[in-house]
Amino acid sequence: MADYKHVKVPKEGEKIRIDDHMKLHVPDRPILPFIEGDGTGPDIWKASQHLFDETVRKVYGGKRKIEWMEVYAGEKSLSVYGPGEWLPDETLDAFKEYLVGIKGPLTTPVGKGIRSLNVALRQILDLYVCLRPVRWFTGVPSPVKNPSKVDMVIFRENTEDIYAGIEYAAGSPEAQKILDFIAKEFPKDFSKIRFGTEKASQEWQKKLESIGMSARPAPVQVGVGIKPISYLGSERLVHSALSYCIQHKRKSLTLVHKGNIMKYTEGSFRDWGFQVAKEMFGAVEIDGGPWCQIPAGKPGAGIVIKDSIADITLQQVLTRPEEFDVIATPNLNGDYLSDALAAQVGGIGIAPGGNINYLTGHAIFEATHGTAPKYANQDKVNPGSVVLSGVMMLNHLGWNEAADAIERALEKTIGAKTVTYDFARLMEGAKEVKCFEFAKLVAGAI
Ligand code: NAP
Repeated sequence: MADYKHVKVPKEGEKIRIDDHMKLHVPDRPILPFIEGDGTGPDIWKASQHLFDETVRKVYGGKRKIEWMEVYAGEKSLSVYGPGEWLPDETLDAFKEYLVGIKGPLTTPVGKGIRSLNVALRQILDLYVCLRPVRWFTGVPSPVKNPSKVDMVIFRENTEDIYAGIEYAAGSPEAQKILDFIAKEFPKDFSKIRFGTEKASQEWQKKLESIGMSARPAPVQVGVGIKPISYLGSERLVHSALSYCIQHKRKSLTLVHKGNIMKYTEGSFRDWGFQVAKEMFGAVEIDGGPWCQIPAGKPGAGIVIKDSIADITLQQVLTRPEEFDVIATPNLNGDYLSDALAAQVGGIGIAPGGNINYLTGHAIFEATHGTAPKYANQDKVNPGSVVLSGVMMLNHLGWNEAADAIERALEKTIGAKTVTYDFARLMEGAKEVKCFEFAKLVAGAI
């Protein structure tokens, strides 16, 4: 057991562990690390924790109990550990040791150092799946006519793509080095960088001057980013998504990509996705492929594996949502798609997420919205995102009875039009309640 300086390990309770067959063993009193979060995080966490504890107490009659263990990140961590300590090693050690945890929203520090604490946690713990279920709860105000048709689960790749953070600023010596390398080794490709040379920049500047712009220096200024997408990264994501389809009896998996333009990153993601379906799940091509289907006699028989280009997907999830079920997609597409879909079913205050490594058992469930700092300490915002992330966590632990009870009670409470400000302003005849009060009402409905 790690020696912690500021983290207080609960005396009662045990660790969750994972066996060699990737099976989680969850004791009746698991110790779960949590990060309260910045801004509105403390309000939301207080409300959510109350609801989780009440639910587990009621559903399991005292036989089960979560032993919460606070760990620190973000602004609170600075006050506990000192300046610069946005994400202390202890926090990472705790998530490594206790496997499953939950977090509120964190401020992204502006300036140098860690780019985003959320991205750092995902990368350091290699949480390769970002799982985002998107469904509508009766009564939630929505901008679309039939939000009940949206019932999708997004598997967003979480460790690769431009989120690897390999970028070089325009005009920096690093960017120049990369440009020089491409110019020397791949001259044909280099010629496709529109303003990669002094000559091209000057010519364009001259054209601007010919229509009246004043003269100015026009140096080469090209920012460069690298978009790594690997076979193994794609394989583990698509394998997880297809396993989920089988376990949850879903009917299709759509590989969403932009392979028509980015052939060897997004296009390969698509090809590798079909390869995984065929080689690892026995899928066979439909009408000469590339779409395929798991045949009769195999686990998941009937599941169709198809693909869709990212731009048209963003249209069709809106116009024909019933055609989408489980989705697997690279990191950046997944980012856009999950927020666009969340909007269809009631928006950011209620969208949950989980970051998971199925092999090591590590998982962090999280609010998908930010810290909404203007509402901090007002006990005002919707705790729904952390609450539903907790539902995902309870399902992940196999405590499905508690997870289902929260979902039902949440739906009942929203159906009764007792809601936080964000829903109240969109619902006729709603009664606006505070963040904690809302959680208490949900707990009372269990
Ligand atoms: P934000 O905190 O998500 O807030 C944007 C708006 O979304 C709020 O003004 C509010 O809308 C609505 N909103 C957010 N949370 C809500 C909730 N729980 N209930 C109801 N409405 C909610 O986005 P931001 O202002 O761009 O970002 C603030 C900080 O959060 C930044 O430091 C950013 O880096 C960070 N961030 C963290 C995460 C994360 O930890 N997962 C994610 C995104 C951003 P109205 O004004 O219309 O009421």
